[in-house]
Parts: sequence; structure tokens; C-alpha cells
Amino acid sequence: MPRYDLHCHSTHSDGLFAPAAVVARAAQRGVDVLALTDHDVVSGLAEAQQAASDAGITLVCGSELSVTWKDITIHVVALRIDPDNATLVQGLASIRGGRGERARLMAQGLAEAGVPGAYQGAMRYVTNDDLVSRTHFARFLIDAGYAKDARGVFDRYLTPGKPGYVAHAWPPCRRRWAGSTPRAARPSSPTRAAIG
Ligand SMILES: [Zn+2]
Repeated sequence: MPRYDLHCHSTHSDGLFAPAAVVARAAQRGVDVLALTDHDVVSGLAEAQQAASDAGITLVCGSELSVTWKDITIHVVALRIDPDNATLVQGLASIRGGRGERARLMAQGLAEAGVPGAYQGAMRYVTNDDLVSRTHFARFLIDAGYAKDARGVFDRYLTPGKPGYVAHAWPPCRRRWAGSTPRAARPSSPTRAAIG
């Protein structure tokens, strides 16, 4: 039976490895079908596709979309998308648009709570300037000693009601995006699912 991993991120959003390296690692670990599902971008898919062909595994084109549903942010993993679809490309650009301003407001909240320099700190971990997220703030806060792990940092600073949390209205969850197959991102890990 083929082995699947239908949810992973690269440096095109908040992952730690470039798309080709993500694919190579998956292939090494015995994955037969891999979906690259970077947050709100499709820019890593061409490199991933090439690497998948080289490694002899199947790549599923994906993206993890930030949307607002009934006032809460949810992440929808869209699979088998067409990265060249104009509606999708335009929609993703508009989703990415609000992140820079939100990051500045998050840093302001953290500064008021006694954590100076969080914007510059988070930006040191950013690998795609369009995609600063709570994950990057979390990495900064952990490495600077404000929390010891991902759960601690989200609970203390980055969830609703905490100093680094800024509510943000993403586009509404209503359209069937560019013929993709949506599924909810797994909520178990704050570093993967609560990125926002
Ligand atoms: Zn994810």
C-alpha cells in the first residue's frame, strides 16, 4: 500500500527546509505520495515537482489556506490545486497582503507586555518576506528564552487574549477554490496548525 504525507511545509512559508529538501527527506523515509502544502503560496511547487520526479515519488500540489469562518481563523488544506489558476493565485496574494501589518501589531502588543524587539526578532526567522506568521514569533520567543516550547509560547503569548495575539480577518471561507479538494488542517500541533 502506498504511503502518503499530505501536509507539509517548506521555506516558502514557515518550514525549515527548501522544497527539494522536503521532497528528498520524504522519499528517504519511504513516502510514496507527498503533498507540499505551504501556507498561502504555491511558489514552492515547481521545485518540489522537479525533486519528486528525480526521486521517483508522486507530488500532489497543495496549499494551506488561511480563511475566516464564523469569526475564527481556520486553515484549509487544499489538495490537487492548479498552481497556475488565476483565481487561486490572486486569492492567495490577497490572503498574504495583511500579514506584515498584523506582525507589527503583534510586536507592539508584545513590547507592551515586556518583550522588546519582537518584530525584528521574528523577521530573522522569516524565509519568505510575505509570510511572517505566529510561528516565526514563536521561534524568536523560545530562542530568546521567553518560553520553553511551542505549546508554552502559544499559550502565554500568541493565542486570543494574550499580548502577541492580533485578530485578523482572512477572506471568508465560502468559495470552492479553483477546483481543489479542501480538508481541515490537523489541529493537534500548535506549530503546524495554529500558525495563522
Ligand atoms: Zn500546515
